[in-house]
Amino acid sequence: MSDCLFCSIVAGDIPASIRAETENVLAFDDVNPVAPTHVLVIPKRHIESSAEIGKEDSALLSEVFSVVQDVGLEINGGWRVVTNVGENAGQSVFHLHFHVLGGRHMGWPPG
Ligand code: AMP
Repeated sequence: MSDCLFCSIVAGDIPASIRAETENVLAFDDVNPVAPTHVLVIPKRHIESSAEIGKEDSALLSEVFSVVQDVGLEINGGWRVVTNVGENAGQSVFHLHFHVLGGRHMGWPPG
């Protein structure tokens, strides 16, 4: 999608600190980290949010979570995976992404 920030990162038009890459998935550091480790894991294909995931995306999601796991296993003490959907949840980039957060204690419930 031409006006999508994360599609531009996938295309290499906007720089990012890449942490992992597979055929269909990219992981890169969040530019505004809220934890010592804050990596975004995204499908390269444009999907607006997890509300748009279909049954046909099961293999893609498996690939996404394999990368989430690879990133998380590098973090001592565990990690949290977050995906925001829509305005109330605070979604600001409308390309499906999973925040992988770790390196500090996290409270519950989230704010
Ligand atoms: P969300 O608010 O859940 O949609 O998350 C979007 C995330 O994208 C935020 O945590 C931003 O800090 C992050 N972000 C925005 N622009 C960039 C960028 N150019 N490179 C990396 N992360 C970004």
